[in-house]
Amino acid sequence: MSVEFASFLYLVSGVLFILALRGLSHPTSSRQGNIFGMAGMGLAVLTTLLLAGPSLGGLALIVLGIALGGGAGAVIARRIPMTAMPQLVAAFHSLVGLAAVMVAAAALYAPESIGIGVVGAIHAQALVEMSIGVAIGAITFTGSIVAFLKLDGRMSGKPILLPSRHLVNVALAVLLVALVIAFAATQSHALFWLVVLVSLALGVLLIVPIGGADMPVVVSMLNSYSGWAAAGIGFTLQNLALIITGALVGSSGAILSYIMCKGMNRSFVSVILGGFGGDTAGPAGADLGDRTVKQGSAEDAAYLMKNAGRVIIVPGYGMAVAQAQHALREMADTLKREGVEVKYAIHPVAGRMPGHMNVLLAEANVPYDEVFELEDINSEFAQTDVAFVIGANDVTNPSARGDKTSPIYGMPILNVDQAQTCLFIKRSLGSGYAGIDNSLFYKDNTMMLFADAKKMVEDIVKALAH
Ligand code: NDP
Repeated sequence: MSVEFASFLYLVSGVLFILALRGLSHPTSSRQGNIFGMAGMGLAVLTTLLLAGPSLGGLALIVLGIALGGGAGAVIARRIPMTAMPQLVAAFHSLVGLAAVMVAAAALYAPESIGIGVVGAIHAQALVEMSIGVAIGAITFTGSIVAFLKLDGRMSGKPILLPSRHLVNVALAVLLVALVIAFAATQSHALFWLVVLVSLALGVLLIVPIGGADMPVVVSMLNSYSGWAAAGIGFTLQNLALIITGALVGSSGAILSYIMCKGMNRSFVSVILGGFGGDTAGPAGADLGDRTVKQGSAEDAAYLMKNAGRVIIVPGYGMAVAQAQHALREMADTLKREGVEVKYAIHPVAGRMPGHMNVLLAEANVPYDEVFELEDINSEFAQTDVAFVIGANDVTNPSARGDKTSPIYGMPILNVDQAQTCLFIKRSLGSGYAGIDNSLFYKDNTMMLFADAKKMVEDIVKALAH
């Protein structure tokens, strides 16, 4: 295959990826978007194979790699529960970072195989691309592993604030730039591995101080980094498709991070620089004293909602854990038949990954026109009879409004407390991801429904039928 024709096919796959992103931006077109994405990737892989025209042995190795990686991916994708998706995504990002490091190392040790020079005399431009790619790749690798450990609960989700961390990070960043320049000048293999080592350390140090409400931004930021790492590999390998896809992932991840920062009232720069916001992290929650809570039953909840004019459902991480979305839709359908207006309110960081709640509600066939984003529905709580909070906690916590010591201070919350009655389904008075108490549980217009979310909603459905 000629290089020109391959470039054309890469361009076609780039267009397919753009169509994929466009499709994925709305639930109704997301399936089609996925298909475009798969077609684009298939075309890119096939073109690369045909262009390279590998020897039989090489081809066998490639097919083996695809079979092993694709097989493992298929098994993991089938087995993984929706609640473990965020940590899976973080783990996959780490692999992209690792791949960038491996490819750069391979290019350094065998530059002639990809036409960028010979050992000790690699073209200057390739050296710069290689070192930037390897640095971003190594930062993504360890950063994503830390994010995986935090999201999987194997490491505390609270910020870990090391002394003088900003100073250490700046010093390491300066050292990294110096090492990249020295490596480009000398082509020393030892310096290359030093670049890798410093970047690995920087990846850990950048993510470790980030906690609580800032984790969603980190996940999408690491997604962005993994894209830039892939683009870096693309330059090293002179592969147009990798450059296009890397840039698409890198820029869309960066835009998503920016949107999430805005939604959560966080400074983008502070989050990227590694837990600058962590300074404000105070003690876990306000002093709640010996206050009592009002506890209710499924029958109480059914009675209140049946007699309501308007109900707003606020789903959170607990709904995902309990897989309560199908029962929830059944409950909403029953209420609608009784003449109650039902809407769903989605907070931008509800659950454990961007769009988590939208995906679950779509899975349960909740009509899209009943689902509203925070800014579109928040003013309606004041005219609502019942706010039905199912497994959400941090996204409703009023400490974000007034408590400057709270780790979530400044984040907009869903104003469920303004509804006439607020029902809270959760299993205990325990805290959510950010690890802080929620004073809403103790308010006069709050009724706690202590149970597993799915079980409670099923019981409410039964009670509604009577
Ligand atoms: P939270 O993590 O604040 O709270 C979830 C609540 O669900 C818990 O308090 C828990 O209480 C309850 N719960 C757990 N299991 C069940 C169950 N089986 N049945 C009923 N309740 C259950 O969730 P939110 O969605 O309100 O907030 C998301 C948090 O996660 C934010 O802090 C956000 O910053 C963070 N985050 C979000 C990411 C994203 O991209 N969306 C990524 C990473 C972090 P109990 O144990 O008492 O039942």
